[in-house]
Amino acid sequence: MNLPKSADIAVIGGGIIGTSIAYHLARRGADVVLLERNRFFGEESTAKAAGGVRAHFGTEVNVRLSQISLAEFERFEAETGYSPSFVRRGYLFVLTMEAEVRAFKAKFPMWERLGTRTEWWAGDAVRARFPMMRWDDALGAVWGPDDGLADPGSAVQGYVSAGSRAGAKFFTGADVTGIKTARGRVEAVVTSAGEIAARRLVIAAGAWSGEIGRLAGVEIPVIPLRRQILVTAAIPEIPPDFPFVFDFAKSLYFHKEGPGLLIGMSNPDQAPGFDQTVDADWEVATLEAAAARMPLFERAGIARRWAGLYEMTPDRHPLIGPLPEIEGLYIVAGFSGHGFMHGPAAGKIAAEELIDGRATSLDATPLRPDRFARGAAIHEEIVI
Ligand SMILES: Cc1cc2nc3c(=O)[nH]c(=O)nc-3n(C[C@H](O)[C@H](O)[C@H](O)COP(=O)(O)OP(=O)(O)OC[C@H]3O[C@@H](n4cnc5c(N)ncnc54)[C@H](O)[C@@H]3O)c2cc1C
Repeated sequence: MNLPKSADIAVIGGGIIGTSIAYHLARRGADVVLLERNRFFGEESTAKAAGGVRAHFGTEVNVRLSQISLAEFERFEAETGYSPSFVRRGYLFVLTMEAEVRAFKAKFPMWERLGTRTEWWAGDAVRARFPMMRWDDALGAVWGPDDGLADPGSAVQGYVSAGSRAGAKFFTGADVTGIKTARGRVEAVVTSAGEIAARRLVIAAGAWSGEIGRLAGVEIPVIPLRRQILVTAAIPEIPPDFPFVFDFAKSLYFHKEGPGLLIGMSNPDQAPGFDQTVDADWEVATLEAAAARMPLFERAGIARRWAGLYEMTPDRHPLIGPLPEIEGLYIVAGFSGHGFMHGPAAGKIAAEELIDGRATSLDATPLRPDRFARGAAIHEEIVI
């Protein structure tokens, strides 16, 4: 492998976030190198994502990140030559508790102001739309008709391929093992394949971003948290337009995946850590919860199962911007389980920050990594 001796900007991590950043930087003429330690790009959290893309978040900054991404997904194929298989199949948050109904209804004025199409469905409408599910306890639901699904692998390939054409240099097998600084600023990045002199370094290492920060002696509040998924064998009764359906109180979700269903459920007792094995107790609990909502599911076998890592921050919003401790060190990580859908926006915004000095597509100041020290955390409630 022939790593360059120097680059203006080095990006650490070749998931959706790093590849999107490298692509957007190269399109704007920057001299950028991306370093990924695995054999392939996008093999970690990005490959484990359920592919959901939605605009219905509880904070304005998260909604805006989604809106930028939704527009980027629309033009992705024309720009990169790769189809991200983006389909607007819709997202439905089904609510079974009065407190949830109040919390979601309180967001309607914001969604309307920001131009995000939203419908309120009564419980009967949910039951009529999904006769194959049991929704006796549904009080109502929030429907996002413009939300949908996309394919993480294709999106990463599109960014790597179009980014390379635009001049970015992408490397796999380059494990970042050190960060050299002098007089409080970044000088070089050290990898298993050699050293690159760079005055600007972007940490986009997902759940591993805290480890990278430690290489530079900086504490980064990103915690790895296991999340797991099951995919069933074929269920012919599921119609092709079956959307992304959430049982919000149970953190349980379903969407159509090939001929079967993809099912995910958060474990509220999950301890932080890098364990990516599938937990047998979680699987039993998920099978029971899924079968209670969708009896059809009892007849379908499990075709695949996997575990991956969310990259949680204390306020469930990403960290985007310079790390004040070391000049030239940036972070774009901690998307708290929404990094696939926010990846296109993250790359665009990061390129604006690095080239123009500040983001212009949205006000990124609420996402600055020093917000916790400033007492300016922003809390997101609509997370799974
Ligand atoms: C089960 C599950 C379901 C999910 N569903 C969705 C969903 O529906 N929608 C959604 O938007 N998001 C979803 N997510 C979250 C989404 O997958 C992540 O937010 C997103 O992939 C984060 O992207 P990333 O590029 O930051 O991280 P990653 O894809 O993990 O990329 C980080 C990269 O950094 C590399 N790296 C780490 N250390 C080093 C080093 N020392 N040197 C070089 N490289 C290094 C890693 O190898 C890795 O490739 C889900 C996640 C899980 C686990």
